[in-house]
Amino acid sequence: MEKSFLIKPMLDEIYPVIDYGKGVYLYDMEGKKYLDAASGAVTANIGHGVLEIIEAMEEQAKKVSFVYRSQFTSEAAEKLAKKIADWMPGDLNWSFFVNSGSEATETAMKMAIQYWQEQGILTKTKVLSRWVSYHGITLGALSMSGHTGRRARFVPLLEDFPVINPPYCYRCPYNLEAPACGYACANELEMAIKRIGADQIAAFIAEPVIGAAGGAIAPPKDYFKTIKKICEDNNILFIADEVMTGFGRTGTVLACEQWDVIPDIVAFGKGMGAGYAPIAAAVASEKVMAPILAGTKSVMSGHTLSANPQSCAVSLAVLEYLEKNVIIKEVESKGIFLKNQLEKLKEQFSFIGDVRGKGLLLGIEFVEDQETKTPFPRKAFITQKVVRIAMEKGLLVYPAGAGIDGVNGDAIIISPPLTITEKEIENLLLLVKETLAAFSNQINA
Ligand code: PLP
Repeated sequence: MEKSFLIKPMLDEIYPVIDYGKGVYLYDMEGKKYLDAASGAVTANIGHGVLEIIEAMEEQAKKVSFVYRSQFTSEAAEKLAKKIADWMPGDLNWSFFVNSGSEATETAMKMAIQYWQEQGILTKTKVLSRWVSYHGITLGALSMSGHTGRRARFVPLLEDFPVINPPYCYRCPYNLEAPACGYACANELEMAIKRIGADQIAAFIAEPVIGAAGGAIAPPKDYFKTIKKICEDNNILFIADEVMTGFGRTGTVLACEQWDVIPDIVAFGKGMGAGYAPIAAAVASEKVMAPILAGTKSVMSGHTLSANPQSCAVSLAVLEYLEKNVIIKEVESKGIFLKNQLEKLKEQFSFIGDVRGKGLLLGIEFVEDQETKTPFPRKAFITQKVVRIAMEKGLLVYPAGAGIDGVNGDAIIISPPLTITEKEIENLLLLVKETLAAFSNQINA
């Protein structure tokens, strides 16, 4: 192979070159077939190569691909904003379009700060968050991210926004079980607010189901109700980072709907364009927009490619595809089936500690000992080994958790396209079993 000048995650590794994708499968140039059980990075929610999306792309490209948001709006952006407002619970009506999940969480953060500034309150600038979280790679988003691995190099540039424990029931720091625990981890927020001062805090941000940092950690039933109440009681906005969970991944448009909570601001990304175009959004409620509309009438953010008509047309086509094919409704039953089957593997493989998640955002945590939940040593690079074996077998899974030194264990996420069929789920399970059997042989060798 010729020398590559493309900066990839590992510069000393050779990456397969993908030729094309169809449905849940990707095919490389050597003809090898991969079942994309991760939807890339929990992104390709409707699978690869969907004709309707390609047609929508072409149709928009023939009209216009770019207009500058400070000069013009476009039919595609207007229709997409309207569709999102129609789909959202409550009055989450206002969309600010950006190009990545990191930009979406940063925009949400800026909207929250601006909400208070427009009311003459200039001290509320912190956006508190949890440990074992990931909100993006740009410095503002990383400041909110409780991902020690990704923070490490940039600590001097970051704010100390992660302040509380996550609802990581498998490794509960209180050694309690929900609901008897009284949601002690959520109540840590109340204590953090008291310590820091509500007058300093604009918002609290959380992923409804913790993705990359933890490996599909879903909260117990009333966790988010407790969080929302603490936010309301202390005059703090609640931002849901639905970059990974949004638009159906857990079986509802917003994952927050699973726990009857409506955020003040939501960040979307990934599944919004389903990988067909870079598009993301910060979506704000009427409450958040009211002082801005009455004040400066402008949200202080924006990128050259914000509300790009090409990306908006793609996202609109993705949402219409989800709607037309009634895809989100089937996610819950598919997820339950897949999760139950994965649970059964615990008997066969003693290194499976926990199987968890919601809808089609599922996680497996690996442990040295099922009884004691002892994690593998960090330096054993278990997640990386499993991901690599899976890839050799033609199965793509998403690495998670392992970046958090000492806090939690090795995990993978299984998050196939929401369009996956029963037969394809069976095939996925076969490949998972083959992967884990090969891994078992490797660690027992
Ligand atoms: N928020 C969450 C929950 C994510 O999972 C991610 C990406 O993994 C981001 C934000 C950042 O999104 P992006 O990688 O598109 O910048």
